[in-house]
Amino acid sequence: MIQTINPNTNKTVKSFEEMTEKAVDAKVAKAQEAFTNWKETSYEERANLLHKVATLMRVKKSQLAKTITLEMGKLLSQAEGEIDLSANIIDYYADHGEAFLADNALDPEFGSAIIRSSPIGALLGVMPWNFPFYQVVRFAAPNIMVGNTILLKHASMVPQCAASIEQLFEEAEAPEGLYTNLFISGKRTSALVSDKRIKGVTLTGSEKAGASIATEAGKHLKKVVLELGGNDVFIILEDADMEKTVEWAVVGRMNNNGQCCVASKRFIAVEAIAATFIQKFKDKLSKMKVGDPMDSATELGPLSSEEAAVHVADQVKRSVDAGATVLLGGKRANREGAFMEPTILTNLKPGIAAYHEELFGPVASFYVVKDEQAAIDLANDSDFGLGASVFTQDIERGKKIADQIDVGMVFINHPTWTQADLPFGGTKRSGFGRELSELGIHEFVNKKLIRVSGLNDPF
Ligand code: NAP
Repeated sequence: MIQTINPNTNKTVKSFEEMTEKAVDAKVAKAQEAFTNWKETSYEERANLLHKVATLMRVKKSQLAKTITLEMGKLLSQAEGEIDLSANIIDYYADHGEAFLADNALDPEFGSAIIRSSPIGALLGVMPWNFPFYQVVRFAAPNIMVGNTILLKHASMVPQCAASIEQLFEEAEAPEGLYTNLFISGKRTSALVSDKRIKGVTLTGSEKAGASIATEAGKHLKKVVLELGGNDVFIILEDADMEKTVEWAVVGRMNNNGQCCVASKRFIAVEAIAATFIQKFKDKLSKMKVGDPMDSATELGPLSSEEAAVHVADQVKRSVDAGATVLLGGKRANREGAFMEPTILTNLKPGIAAYHEELFGPVASFYVVKDEQAAIDLANDSDFGLGASVFTQDIERGKKIADQIDVGMVFINHPTWTQADLPFGGTKRSGFGRELSELGIHEFVNKKLIRVSGLNDPF
């Protein structure tokens, strides 16, 4: 079902028709046709279009942010922040794309050679609901700069966000087929990967959906990028600045109502300061004002859907049944909507759900360890490898720890976060490939070698 359901009330607001196979086929044909022209455009033309889209996004910020909050429940102030971040990412690629994609001159033994970055064609992006604008632009903007065209299958629960993004491109007078929204269900999406007109695919979302897309991409020999889940650690060492650390711990766990792939999910404190940290952290979480995400006084809104809230409450219950202790919360909040109380679990051991699974909601897992090495070992005892944070006043010590944690991103004295000029992505079951920064623009590019030799040069 492609629907807007307000998670603050669990009431259905608007439903959309799924596209028929025939309609999807026509959209794919248009994207392919658009590619034949778009690949011939100059970087300047591509950048101008992207700047227009970014400007329109900023002009419509208030309206777009309200749509985000309505559909997936993030606090309105955070939705506005997402629009600013998304517009910045679009501008970033418009400003720097040409330099990132410039010919790379090589120095062969004889003759000359360059590596030229060429576009590859129409790409399929499959995106989640948790950052409905940001997730899309971090894939679409660099690839439009490359000269590729975009088919976007968004999460079924954010259809109005999905349609708004397509509309921004229309209003910016993008050629038809350059950016196309596909209203289709997740179930139908993997089958699209086999379409010969689609040259590459990326998915941000769960491991299950990622595996489904990657299986099809493998079968049909297509490039795939996967940005999947995480179980990021937040390590607190004895020399951390406790007041600031606790403030960042709250942001790291509760931002986006606890639904960030890079949220701090496992809090690991060394013995010396564990009691102080947990008392302050618990105190702050217990005072969070839970309520309507449109209300500026609210500090914690609903989860994205009733189904998501039921799932997180079930993960907590299964963990408690297996021996975990609830330090705070632990239940659905006592009000209508997809709410969950701010929760802290401890006494977590291998075999308990919260030890292994990603808790995509306002639930912190708390661990006490003997020392730094035990914190590193625990951090690495996870199938995920997305991000990690280390809090210490000794930056060199933080960097040495960063070297030993098996993840894609380590932040020292900050929760894992994102900006246009920093690469984003994970390792292990958190996926592969990178988005953002210069790295992100090279994922769906043919790095073409052009070699010039003299007729009498050796073979
Ligand atoms: P999800 O169920 O995997 O949905 C993500 C997208 O995949 C949606 O568009 C969904 O469509 C589609 N989909 C679902 N099943 C599919 C299938 N079998 N084949 C192809 N596409 C399919 O993920 P979610 O639960 O909504 O999102 C939360 C997850 O995303 C968390 O694990 C989070 O950590 C991860 N995430 C990762 C990053 C990162 O950068 N690493 C960023 C954000 C989120 P429908 O909506 O129609 O089902």
